[in-house]
Amino acid sequence: MKIVRFIINGEEHWGRADEEKNIIYTDTERLSRIKVFTEVIDIFSDNGSQFTDEISFDDVELLAPVIPTKNILCIGKNYYDHIIEFDGSDSQAERVRETPIFFSKALSSIAGSGQPVLLHENASSSVDYEAELAVVIGKKGINISREDALDYVYGYTILNDVTARDLQAAHQQWFKGKSLDTHCPIGPWIVTKDEIEDGNNLKIASFINGELRQNANTSLMMHDIKALIVSLSKGMTLNPGDVIATGTPSGVGHGFNPPKYLKAGDKMEVVIEGIGSLKNEVKSSL
Ligand code: MG
Repeated sequence: MKIVRFIINGEEHWGRADEEKNIIYTDTERLSRIKVFTEVIDIFSDNGSQFTDEISFDDVELLAPVIPTKNILCIGKNYYDHIIEFDGSDSQAERVRETPIFFSKALSSIAGSGQPVLLHENASSSVDYEAELAVVIGKKGINISREDALDYVYGYTILNDVTARDLQAAHQQWFKGKSLDTHCPIGPWIVTKDEIEDGNNLKIASFINGELRQNANTSLMMHDIKALIVSLSKGMTLNPGDVIATGTPSGVGHGFNPPKYLKAGDKMEVVIEGIGSLKNEVKSSL
């Protein structure tokens, strides 16, 4: 099942997406009142088969299909080839890092598929893209074991960890450089985990104006999805709706010489096998 969140006639709703038919099945009465992600899980527990109102994708504005209880949880340097392009050397220490690098993105940075990503030229001159698989948590848990980790996953979506590289470097802590408004597109929908055989074996790619930039597989993560859930949940409760961005492979704009940072008018697309395509156009803030 593909779960979408969208705006139509100024009202926010949730629905079940049928990509082939270009239709969203919804219930405009019930699905406009959702406040927490556990309600999404409850209402869609029968796979959304009771929803009969049909809306065309062409008539809606998509929103990010998540309601996290904490900042977006992110992993830094989780693909070895991305470390090499970023640090410019073959750093064996990073390859054998036992603990993942965690940081977060402010909830105020979230955008939906199709919504613009702003350059914020007053704040940054080096905005970059990062294609990432995102895990959506479906069950509350703390100190989760590796064996049980996937029981806590509700589904998967696509996240573009848009980053202001100059701010990321200047402030040392990455939070500000990762959290400018609109710099966290998520979507276009959540695919429930029953439709994804192995989250750690999915092709992942990004395109800028149709040019292939990142081209990898989630099997190349150094800390896999189970390991990330184990590590994050040690002493910290994960709640339904929380989102884990699992890191990006090589091919980001910063890794080119000279760098290929985003500019107004660029069309970004992140594609993950079995999920779909997250599309956002870059716009000037001037
Ligand atoms: Mg990232």
